[in-house]
Amino acid sequence: MKARRIAIIGAGMTGPAAALFLKQDGHEVEVFERAPECEPVGAGFLLQPSGREILKKLGVDEAVSALGTRVEDLRCETFSGKQLFHLHYPERKESGLGVSRREVLGIFMQELQRAEIAVHWGTEVKSVQEVAQGKVVLRGQEDLALGEFDLVIVANGARSALRDSLQMTKRVTPYPWGALWWMGVQKSPLYAHTLHQVCDGCREMAGMMPSGIVDGQAMTSFFWSLSHEEWENGGEKMDPRQFSRWKERVLRLMPEREEFLAPLTHAEQLTYARYFDVRVKSWGRGQVILLGDAVHSLSPQLGQGVNLGLRDAYQLARALRVSGTVNQAIKVYQKHRRWETFYYQEASRYLTPMFQSEKGGLGVIRDLIFPPLMSSQWGKHLAIKTMSGEWFSSYLQE
Ligand SMILES: Cc1cc2nc3c(=O)[nH]c(=O)nc-3n(C[C@H](O)[C@H](O)[C@H](O)COP(=O)(O)OP(=O)(O)OC[C@H]3O[C@@H](n4cnc5c(N)ncnc54)[C@H](O)[C@@H]3O)c2cc1C
Repeated sequence: MKARRIAIIGAGMTGPAAALFLKQDGHEVEVFERAPECEPVGAGFLLQPSGREILKKLGVDEAVSALGTRVEDLRCETFSGKQLFHLHYPERKESGLGVSRREVLGIFMQELQRAEIAVHWGTEVKSVQEVAQGKVVLRGQEDLALGEFDLVIVANGARSALRDSLQMTKRVTPYPWGALWWMGVQKSPLYAHTLHQVCDGCREMAGMMPSGIVDGQAMTSFFWSLSHEEWENGGEKMDPRQFSRWKERVLRLMPEREEFLAPLTHAEQLTYARYFDVRVKSWGRGQVILLGDAVHSLSPQLGQGVNLGLRDAYQLARALRVSGTVNQAIKVYQKHRRWETFYYQEASRYLTPMFQSEKGGLGVIRDLIFPPLMSSQWGKHLAIKTMSGEWFSSYLQE
């Protein structure tokens, strides 16, 4: 396909990766981001080997690895000490990598600058309007015209109002649960390379994830499972007494983390994130294409969202390269991304309530089934290939 003028909406994790791939193919690319500056919010996240494969193609895996923490295993146990699973990334293969969003975005921004891709910070795109002859006009606040483009890529996350304004068949379902998170300085070598979770039934779960190096210090992200109802009924405005009661609940599950959690002293330090399940029938329409969470958001139970978005970015650039028209490219792109995203969305949909729900019975079933399943050869094989993304490595088209 001939070089085009392309606008990318959203500088989360997916948008910048798409911008870099498209620029490499000779397109003229601009990125629009509503955040006033490069100051990403968000906890650390786990990059899987499937996402690192894409960072290698972009030539940034080394830089990201230098600021990341190798995650060698994932373990989850119940409050009573029963091990639900303990999964190791295979030796001699790529491990997971715990990273901070701020650091990864910083690396992406350097690359965008090097590639001379303009990033318009503080620019919220309010509408995407197709005009004559395959052109699209972006409009911002107060209907300000932001430019005319041949193609627009919407990568602005699960709550994308732009996606919702397009005439597309879709289903956006909020999960009833989300998580509170906070990132602090890792205080001890205990679980320095382990993503560690402890749960009590399905209503209480705490998790700790190594999250790379920030300002020279090794960081850990802390997650606490919270129902949206609890968040709305007081979780949002915990007073000091409620906060200290909540912290007691956390330390009951993870008493060994007292020192790490000591700097967490008031509710304002916590951020709440709700999960969404997003399904869109056709991933593009006319001259507009959806990417990342905007098209297939899922619960983070399996730690796959960023990895899927990076793979979308790569596959979309390839689809545009091999297709004669945008319409054809949308079909090729969706065909190659459909099964991987479907697999993880379905797996997350069934697994999430086993760890985050009001259904106590599911917790009992989980505690009975998981230990024998996850220690069997077959169960381990399935779980490791799922978490690392290895099932789908051959799906990536060169
Ligand atoms: C608690 C939690 C933990 C997670 N852990 C992991 C993990 O370990 N591993 C993993 O792979 N994934 C994880 N995820 C999922 C991951 O965060 C998402 O899948 C990923 O961030 C999606 O990237 P994105 O670029 O598609 O969207 P986003 O990261 O949501 O980025 C969208 C960007 O678009 C901008 N924007 C929005 N609207 C507009 C507009 N109108 N105009 C301009 N800009 C706009 C936003 O400001 C934002 O910067 C987790 C999610 C949560 C909630």
